[in-house]
Amino acid sequence: MGSAEPKKRIAIMGSTGSIGTQTLDVIRSHSELFEVEILTAHSNDELLIKQALEFRPNAVVICDEKKYEAVKSALSSTDIKVFAGENALEQVADFDTYDIMLAAIVGFAGLKPTLKAVNKGKMIALANKETLVVAGDIVMQTALEKRAPIIPVDSEHSAIFQCLVGEARNPIEKVILTASGGPFLGKKPNFLVNVKRDHALQHPNWSMGAKISIDSATLMNKGLEMIEAKWLFNLEPKQVEVVIHPQSIVHSLVQFEDGSLKAQMGLPDMKLPIQYALGFPGRIKNDFPRFNFRKYPTLSFEEPDYKTFRNLGLAIEALKTGGNMPCILNAANEIAVWAFLKNRIGFLDITAVVEKTMESISLIAKPTLEEYFDSDGEARNFAASLMKL
Ligand code: NDP
Ligand code: MG
Repeated sequence: MGSAEPKKRIAIMGSTGSIGTQTLDVIRSHSELFEVEILTAHSNDELLIKQALEFRPNAVVICDEKKYEAVKSALSSTDIKVFAGENALEQVADFDTYDIMLAAIVGFAGLKPTLKAVNKGKMIALANKETLVVAGDIVMQTALEKRAPIIPVDSEHSAIFQCLVGEARNPIEKVILTASGGPFLGKKPNFLVNVKRDHALQHPNWSMGAKISIDSATLMNKGLEMIEAKWLFNLEPKQVEVVIHPQSIVHSLVQFEDGSLKAQMGLPDMKLPIQYALGFPGRIKNDFPRFNFRKYPTLSFEEPDYKTFRNLGLAIEALKTGGNMPCILNAANEIAVWAFLKNRIGFLDITAVVEKTMESISLIAKPTLEEYFDSDGEARNFAASLMKL
């Protein structure tokens, strides 16, 4: 990228989270290439204010309206616009003044603003996998119609995307998503039944937000990623496989029709896929630590333990069933993970809640966007009633 090119203006949805703050690290190191246009937070007003004063965006959103006054007054000496409330996310997503939306809100809440940006034909750097899990058909169809490029930030999907560069004419035989196995790799149900929140939050290779950390411990994250891969790369369910790779060095693989496998490798650091998505199609020089074979003499691969980590099987079932089933799975999982994080249910109860909810909510084969919202609400209510929340 030549320095004569205008800076890319970035809207970071969920700037106060794990992906959001790492995106700001990337932008801070490459202020000659990028500038911040929009920042959003759910309720972390203090960090949002700090970020806004450093990066001077055009606008910020604080979803929690109770925090509006605090943000407004802290930024009163600047010309930064301050918005509050859930609807404000869509309002700023509708701005013409940004080039790339970095979608890093966690969960279903990311769907509406991301879809708004897709509808405007904006480039999306997508971390928020739930957007595709819930409504992948609508999001991808809209992206096609509006010519909105979707560049994955999720490390596995970034790996696959990178393997596909230059392969546009070559059909994919299958993709293989690698999974670290999370903190409970090798454990059995008699151990998992007593697992507590703090232990489940300790991921061996990645430092991430609370929800995705629990999803990694239950392997639901990999299930959501299988569904995400189906939509991103236009695959049949049987073309998406998972392998456990505890070192998290091979980020995923693509197998082509000649049997050749391409993999993308590197140290586990989300700044790399974030930077790749923002810089695409270019690669940006950086000084991140480099991989060293002496530190990783063995890279190992094994089958997932489907019997113990039943969430993976439930996600595969949702992937094969299609319709609103992935949306139901996602909603039940979000609320069950929330309850686990609040110490209201046990670790294995997460799977039980997801399974019962999937059995109970009616299947819709080809839902409209409104029906996805209804299914999400219905599944949340049902899951909450199961847990007596
Ligand atoms: P975090 O929990 O760390 O951050 C979430 C961000 O979204 C915060 O800015 C938060 O604001 C905001 N937010 C939370 N709930 C809402 C809501 N209801 N409405 C609006 N904003 C909200 O999550 P992560 O950064 O870990 O993950 C973000 C997304 O990226 C997820 O979809 C995850 O699956 C995906 N991802 C994350 C990876 C990682 O390494 N962390 C890797 C691959 C994918 P506040 O801080 O104010 O609460
Ligand atoms: Mg991932």
